[in-house]
Amino acid sequence: FPQIKVLNVPFINTTQTAFLAAIEARINHRENTFIVTANPEIVMYARNDSHYQQILENADYITPDGIGILKGAAILGQPMTERITGYDTLLALLAWGNQQGKSVYLVGAKPDVIKDVKKVVAARYPELKVVGARDGYFNDFTPIAQDIAQKQPDMVFLAVGFPKQEQLIADYRHQNNGLWMGVGGSFDVLSG
Ligand code: UDP
Repeated sequence: FPQIKVLNVPFINTTQTAFLAAIEARINHRENTFIVTANPEIVMYARNDSHYQQILENADYITPDGIGILKGAAILGQPMTERITGYDTLLALLAWGNQQGKSVYLVGAKPDVIKDVKKVVAARYPELKVVGARDGYFNDFTPIAQDIAQKQPDMVFLAVGFPKQEQLIADYRHQNNGLWMGVGGSFDVLSG
């Protein structure tokens, strides 16, 4: 996809539809894929943290999540096509995964919330295989990473907030050739 840089963060500039098609093809081919849906907070944070900036640069796709990014790009004379939010992408991939019988691993949010997310997902997406659902209040990610490595899910969604979720993905993505995406507070929304 064409890219537009906003304060040194390289965003993809495309439509949600084209983006999803590309991601779905990569998942089908078991290509290791790391998506960051970045809002202005993330961009500002990366400015002051070169390690996080490096993590962003190593992601496969950074999408503009938040109208502030589109406004910033427009001010810089580089208008972007549309927002691609983490929440919309999550819902679209769960729906597609349900149609295709894909497997998914969910990590994040409080224990009560992830329990509700499991129920909501089972009810709305019955053909989706939820091979793991863990809350986001662990001390050590290693055992969760081992479980992911063993189960090899098509998609891993991490909802533990930035910058932690991107840091974990950067550290562990090599253990599963699927999709890895940080989804921030999306599980709280999804749980109702
Ligand atoms: N969270 C978590 N583990 C932590 C800290 C936070 O699972 O150690 C969860 C929290 O319960 C919430 C999400 O991460 O569901 C963070 O949401 P927020 O909207 O703050 O994330 P952001 O959009 O800022 O990345």
